[in-house]
Amino acid sequence: MKNYLTASISESAVRHNLAALRSLIGERVKLCPVVKDDCFGHGMDVLFPVLTECADGFAVAAPQEALELRRKGCHGFILCFLSAYFDDFAVQDELVWQEITQTVMSKSALDSIRAAAVRVGKTARVHLKVDTGMGRLGVPSEQAPRLIELICETPEVELTGIYTHFATADEADRSATFRQLERFRAILPVAGKGIRIHAANSAATLDLPDTHFDMVRPGIAVYGCKPSDEIQNSVDLRPCMSVKAKLIAVKRIPAGGCSGYGLTHVYDRDSRVGVVPIGYGDGYFRNLSNKAVVRINGMDAPVRGRVSMDQMTVDVTDIPNVQVGDEVEVISSDPAAPNSVENLARLAGTIPYEITCHIGHSMRHELV
Ligand code: PLP
Repeated sequence: MKNYLTASISESAVRHNLAALRSLIGERVKLCPVVKDDCFGHGMDVLFPVLTECADGFAVAAPQEALELRRKGCHGFILCFLSAYFDDFAVQDELVWQEITQTVMSKSALDSIRAAAVRVGKTARVHLKVDTGMGRLGVPSEQAPRLIELICETPEVELTGIYTHFATADEADRSATFRQLERFRAILPVAGKGIRIHAANSAATLDLPDTHFDMVRPGIAVYGCKPSDEIQNSVDLRPCMSVKAKLIAVKRIPAGGCSGYGLTHVYDRDSRVGVVPIGYGDGYFRNLSNKAVVRINGMDAPVRGRVSMDQMTVDVTDIPNVQVGDEVEVISSDPAAPNSVENLARLAGTIPYEITCHIGHSMRHELV
């Protein structure tokens, strides 16, 4: 990892977002941030103490992420969305031993969790995932009652929760979400009492209070971004990631000259161009070439020419006294800035999640 690139993560922004989410759900509903993929690229290493203090548990995707949380000293509730591979007995056993709450979505998943519970000599706790319309993981709604019965007939496995996941909660048209919610509600009486019920991702946590049930599972909102532009809730979320670099070269390029592979940008005047040591190998999307800006000394510097693997060129002609070593704000934590995560996502034709994951996986993190 390059020691000159760091993603700075604002502790106060994360605390603010968690408090904002808490005020939306109230004290009764549990707040279970989704921290998969290294907290969406924001760095579990730096965020673990903050999240531990403010949240009621963690949700992860991969079994290894759940086990890593235990190793870090998380003693509380951890929900794992994905199963261990069917032949990975060591991980299956460790999940039971470490009291990770596993997801059951089929009879075969139940059988392998039961087998691990027998091997380990401990009851396995599970949440049932119901596919109410997303068409991804989860038992189809109509088969859920039978699977609930099977779990309840399995003494080595304890059903402690039931959940679903929305496919379109971040879209303006909420009709598909309401259909999912209806199917989910229809199953709940079969699950019985004392079971933790949950459904809400960030979008539903923000906009659909009826989906909060006993627990919410927000991901991107914890890190300060709205899941889409369609979100109605005007709650103030604060993006917590910023990325800074330093100019490593400043050069003159005459009118008619170009910069970068493919010579895709022709300067129409005598220009000064700065070289920033970050590129698509560091998670900065190549399709931001000739579209995005960085900020130097509080001014916009447009990205000109193609983003390379580890460098890119920016037009600094209009920025006075620019020199090598000047700080370059590649990503701003100000949501209104042209180089905010959300704006870069729009320009790149993607979602904020992908921007933070790519950048965050490529560099170290510091809590600021
Ligand atoms: N719940 C599940 C099952 C997920 O897969 C995700 C995705 O990351 C989330 C919740 C959180 O989604 P979001 O980041 O949109 O809040």
